[in-house]
Amino acid sequence: MKTIHKFDWAAKELEELKLKNLYRKFRVLEELKGTRAKVQGREITLFCGNDYLGLSQHPRLIEAFQRVSNEWGVGSGSARLISGTSKWHEALEKRIADFLGKERALLFSSGYLANLGVLSSLAGSDDLIILDKLSHASLVDAAHLSKATLRIYPHGNLEYLENIIKKAKVRRIWIVTDSLFSMDGDLAPLPELVELKNRYGAYLVIDEAHATGVFGSTGKGVSEHFGVSDAIDVHIGTLSKALGVFGGFVAGSNELIEYLINHARTFLFDTALPAPVCAAALQAFDLIERESVLRSQLWGRVEQLRKGLKGIGAPILESRSPIIPVVFGDELKTLEAAEFLLKEGFLIPAVRYPTVPRGKARLRVTVSSIHSEEDIDRLIFAFKSLVSLADKNS
Ligand code: PLP
Repeated sequence: MKTIHKFDWAAKELEELKLKNLYRKFRVLEELKGTRAKVQGREITLFCGNDYLGLSQHPRLIEAFQRVSNEWGVGSGSARLISGTSKWHEALEKRIADFLGKERALLFSSGYLANLGVLSSLAGSDDLIILDKLSHASLVDAAHLSKATLRIYPHGNLEYLENIIKKAKVRRIWIVTDSLFSMDGDLAPLPELVELKNRYGAYLVIDEAHATGVFGSTGKGVSEHFGVSDAIDVHIGTLSKALGVFGGFVAGSNELIEYLINHARTFLFDTALPAPVCAAALQAFDLIERESVLRSQLWGRVEQLRKGLKGIGAPILESRSPIIPVVFGDELKTLEAAEFLLKEGFLIPAVRYPTVPRGKARLRVTVSSIHSEEDIDRLIFAFKSLVSLADKNS
């Protein structure tokens, strides 16, 4: 029988991606302990994850996960409105709302699904969604999924944003932004955004995915850092980064949450998070609130790495967060840099288009509170060799 290659077209497109240095593939971790992993039999140190406080392997989270999975199993068996709501979901939603000082919170199965559910249900065809150019892909997809008109303003350009607002003749305006930008590591100007949305009667939706547990004196995020938490209309977060677990959440007013329960399709038609995940997340919120040492340790390491990389002339972006992008621009150069660092024992994959704009390829270096000072020194040393090699070759 003649073989029909129905996906020849896909293979051809993949070849084109390879030619453009944009092809992606897995790097399989054979073992993982803290920031140490084994890849192809070699021990390497991770400087690329979002486990900013090292909670994903914290004994208290693991103990809660194991204890509750013994009683409740590892799957929830149905959507929340069928039989998927346990006392653990209720307890975690209450904990999140109390932690953030909001009336109520609602869990989603991931931060991505929270973003899709929120924007697609809140914004309709008579509305306008305005996004910062560097907003996370999930917010862009969410805006497309809603029937609203979408406008994008250049990163951080509030004048441009205000001009869009001034010209808008719509039912409702939704200003949507990451609070800590995931690829540049910088902060959204939340106080100015609050001022704008108040002036024009717009809504402000923020995604604190990378900031929860990290920013603010008690880890509530960038909104706490700037003292504007009460002014945020829709606060979205994830359990999958500094909280070390999995899942997403939305917090806000009672009406907002009731509306989402009844309209957000990624909530309605999705299986509930497993109870042990909620139990582990409850422990994570306790640690974030009570163990401020985790955060001070993280910030100490961030400063150590930032100063070190700057000192050796690495092309870092001026961020003040655990996300330190080293921007090479050229895709091939960035891939080669990632390979070099892997040989030196560090996993920091090359981030390329479409995750970042074309020609802005980078190594997105991320710091965790469980990196040791020695880990950071070793990485700076490896970057030093990389930078001097690049200087020699240029
Ligand atoms: N929002 C931002 C800003 C992100 O960076 C991410 C993930 O990288 C998400 C949302 C999605 O969150 P989750 O991984 O929980 O789906």
